[in-house]
Amino acid sequence: MPCEVKLRFVVLYGSQKGQAESLAEGIAEVAEEHGLVAELSCLNHNEKYNLEKETAPVVFIVSTTGDGEPPDNALQFVKRIKKKTLTTDHYKHLCYALLALGDTNYANFCNCGKTIERRLQELGAKQFYATGYADDGVGLEVVVDPWIEGLWKAIKGALSKMASDKADLLKGEAGKSPKGTPNLSIPHVQLNLLRITDHQNCDSIKASAETVSKCATVSLAASLTCSLPPLSESPLNVPALPPAYLDVSLQEVDSVEQVRKDTLHAAPISRAVQLTRGDSVKVAVLLELDMSAHPMVTYHPGDSFDVFCPNKATEVEDMLHRLGLQDQRNHQVHISLLKDTKKKGAQVPSYMSKNISLLYLLTRCLEIRSVPKKAFVRALVEHTGDCVQKRRLQELCSRQGSADYNLYVRDSGLSVLELLAAFPSCSPPLSLLIEHLPKLQPRPYSAASSCLRHPGKLHFVFNVVEFPACSGRPAGRLGLCTGWLFDLINPVLVFPENDESSSSPALPKIHVSLRPNCSFRPPADPSAPFIMVGPGTGVAPFIGFLQQREQERKEKPEAIFGETWLFFGCRHRDGDYLFREELEGFVSSGTLSQLKVCFSRDEQEEEEEATTSAAARPRYVQHNLLLNSRHVTDILLKHNGYFYVCGDAKNMAKDVNNTLMEMIQTELQVDQLDAMKTLAGLREEKRYLQDIWG
Ligand code: FAD
Repeated sequence: MPCEVKLRFVVLYGSQKGQAESLAEGIAEVAEEHGLVAELSCLNHNEKYNLEKETAPVVFIVSTTGDGEPPDNALQFVKRIKKKTLTTDHYKHLCYALLALGDTNYANFCNCGKTIERRLQELGAKQFYATGYADDGVGLEVVVDPWIEGLWKAIKGALSKMASDKADLLKGEAGKSPKGTPNLSIPHVQLNLLRITDHQNCDSIKASAETVSKCATVSLAASLTCSLPPLSESPLNVPALPPAYLDVSLQEVDSVEQVRKDTLHAAPISRAVQLTRGDSVKVAVLLELDMSAHPMVTYHPGDSFDVFCPNKATEVEDMLHRLGLQDQRNHQVHISLLKDTKKKGAQVPSYMSKNISLLYLLTRCLEIRSVPKKAFVRALVEHTGDCVQKRRLQELCSRQGSADYNLYVRDSGLSVLELLAAFPSCSPPLSLLIEHLPKLQPRPYSAASSCLRHPGKLHFVFNVVEFPACSGRPAGRLGLCTGWLFDLINPVLVFPENDESSSSPALPKIHVSLRPNCSFRPPADPSAPFIMVGPGTGVAPFIGFLQQREQERKEKPEAIFGETWLFFGCRHRDGDYLFREELEGFVSSGTLSQLKVCFSRDEQEEEEEATTSAAARPRYVQHNLLLNSRHVTDILLKHNGYFYVCGDAKNMAKDVNNTLMEMIQTELQVDQLDAMKTLAGLREEKRYLQDIWG
């Protein structure tokens, strides 16, 4: 009797911000086109899958969050598979493929994926397709697209191998391969391009390609809206259209609720100080919030606060007009699932509260500034009238147009509204926005104060983020939250020298909630020495650390306190040396043992550093670390000290990590592998801690 192969496979995801989830959904959605049936589930829904008995190939798509931790919805799964009681053949029946998402700007790249993979292998599972490690730092699609492209063949290969092994077993010929262990050769990810097979699609694309090509010859330069050959003449592989799944209607009502969660605290701004000067530096502002109405909110140095900001009113207005719904702004929004949707696991977004108005939805719920994902661009194609614009949108979401998408959309941080403005014939329905736009997220800021020094107050510092003009954005704009805060406090902003004397008029309240960080804290033992690396606004939590230490020293003069070092960096001594007076004060009082500051853009060194040769002049924090290599490694490795890094994730944390590794190699006279192990040990012991963003 022939052994029937059931062409099903399982897709499991662990996702923090929704990227792994939407990739998993995408895979499940197109499975049918490949003659396969996908069973999709989130890793924490363990009632929906059973790996202990699974006989079909399993595809894991997992991201990594924070300092290399699993996403919240994969935590339980990781805990389960880490159990020491599991035997080495626990998963010997299992065939898996894994796509790990991460960001090389952060420590422990793809750590969650690597952990799951290691454990699966330790428990006997067999890989049927090479693991993909996608890096958000350079663009996930560089790895994701070819990985998914090759996945189908690999799944089919795994299925037929498993079927023939099963048939062999039935025939009693199982001896050819190890018993019960699928013998799979592992295909590698191919970076070759897909070919167009849909001729109809191809013809229509060719026709509009000619139109776009004309447009390109007129403008002579590629831009968000115009492409040049070869792209403008190339056949395109556009992704499958994501199925619609929401039914959205608007209803006129007398009044609608404006929802606010209980965990949010309305806190008046009591002070706003501009910490920077000059045009050549980013504007940094210190805000003080009066938390006296919330005595239960006690924060510790190292904690952050989420700031809840609305979308910009003018942009909400533009969006309402764009959707043609300006007269229905106060209507109540009803959202339900489309009855016949083909979307697997479709759900009404959980953050959409009931009884909200359209205005509230666009102002508080949806991130209308978010950079449109390719799936969204693909969906927009269906709502675009003009064929030239349609073709360009197809290009931007296609495999061939990947570089243009990265350049004009992703890297410039183009918002949905900016994209819509550039494609005037595109009129998406409201439901499409709700299906594709993420939840408007609060922005976290590190506490830059200690409750001991400033009871009832909370300080934080932010850089006003600027997005320069670019193709698709005629004028520069500010970051959403930092721009909003800056507009709020601009009328009363003071410089430090006028700080005390100013009697600010009443400032508005903002909504915040506490985000405790239980590991990024000063050492519990005050005698332990510690090193802080915090360039720019990364210095914020360390101001809190030092304020706390100063108070503790006052309260317990007899106690033994370990050495404290701070490495700070900025562009100009006179421009953006944040908290200069306060830091120098910490040095004078003995709270801060060593303050090492460098200026990346100052050409002239001050007299006290005249002895340092130009070559040795530190520009960035890592250069100063190198200059103090012996002390730093002694503190860490001989005196059981702590090492904290905070700030912009772009390159700094990676550079500091590499420098630290180099220092350990030199000081301990060990090779790179041993230095890496030493650093990994420090992380494990929670003595090397990072709090980075970007
Ligand atoms: P958006 O409109 O959301 O634009 C975000 C874009 O700006 C991103 O594409 C990103 O690449 C870029 N961006 C993000 N942060 C910066 C930055 N600092 N400088 C330049 N470009 C940036 N920021 C602070 O200024 N001070 C803090 O103390 C601070 N603490 C943080 C603590 C944590 C745990 C985290 C996760 C983030 C922290 N941030 C801090 C970053 C902050 O939450 C916001 O991301 C930042 O202020 C930009 O918000 P926005 O809404 O103005 O920008």
